[in-house]
Amino acid sequence: MKHVKVLIIGSGPAGYTAAIYASRANLQPLLIEGNLPGGQLTTTTDVENFPGYPQGVNGFDMMEDLRSQATRFGTEIVMGEVTKIDSSVRPFCVFVDGEQRYFADTIIYATGSSAKYLGLPEEEKYRGVGLSACATCDGFFFRDKVVAVVGGGDTACEEASYLASICKKVYLIVRKPYLRASKSMQQRVAENDKIEILFENQVVALHGETKLQTIDVRFSNENEVRSLEVDGIFMAIGHTPNVDLIKDFVELDEQGYIRVNSPMTTTNVPGFFAAGDVSDPHYRQAINAAASGCRAAMDAERYLNK
Ligand code: NDP
Repeated sequence: MKHVKVLIIGSGPAGYTAAIYASRANLQPLLIEGNLPGGQLTTTTDVENFPGYPQGVNGFDMMEDLRSQATRFGTEIVMGEVTKIDSSVRPFCVFVDGEQRYFADTIIYATGSSAKYLGLPEEEKYRGVGLSACATCDGFFFRDKVVAVVGGGDTACEEASYLASICKKVYLIVRKPYLRASKSMQQRVAENDKIEILFENQVVALHGETKLQTIDVRFSNENEVRSLEVDGIFMAIGHTPNVDLIKDFVELDEQGYIRVNSPMTTTNVPGFFAAGDVSDPHYRQAINAAASGCRAAMDAERYLNK
């Protein structure tokens, strides 16, 4: 089994930045990409708020740049999914795709977070046939159709704007009487004729024979339910941190994110560091994820030098 000083799990801005710093510190890191190489930014449209890109940058291109920057300094990148971490031994023993593969002196855990769904019983039935959590990935399939986006944050507004450029009409379904999104996002949505915002509405059921055809929405606390004809529905109601692998031995906070000794990236497990959205319930921005990846690499280096 290969033995590494630094093993990074996750390939979003946090993981790649940790890899850039660790490889430049001559720690020969190994990065395991996971099942969504490049992380959530590869499913977004243009990133306009990452410093250094005055014209914005496509999320996928940005992650490709980060990846090649990491490999340029010697990071080894491995395809596959980590399926188990044995934390009872030192070095840590890391299993990839079910096989015991690596010994690691330190682990930088940067697995990000995953989209939330409403929890309606019919959701499973319509996944891939009308229900999605990624407009950039699936919007193409709804050209000139009618879709709904659920949520009132930046993601929902961004997805609604993007879908309005493809679809005939977009309902933005917001459970509160106001949007939580930033002012510029709110303005973008308000100025778009194709977007109709339904405030104080909740989606309560999905219907359709083989694919989604209608959704039931309920206004405020009224009992009456209105049916809307839609071909697709996009969930944009936030994310859950990806902690399944480590939740039995790493301490989490009340919201289920990894608890770090901020501003450091140390956790309750010596040698185990967390970076990016998996430990950030507040900001959840690429720039913060990248910054915490940098800190994690420096924390791991200090730990190894002790
Ligand atoms: P947020 O947590 O900000 O917003 C989630 C939205 O979903 C809220 O409106 C919330 O409603 C609603 N919601 C949650 N659960 C339900 C439910 N069960 N039913 C109906 N509605 C629900 O998540 P985002 O993904 O939008 O954003 C996360 C972070 O990423 C934020 O910090 C955001 O600023 C940032 N971001 C920035 C972007 C950019 O700058 N380009 C793009 C995308 C995200 P309620 O308000 O009632 O809680």
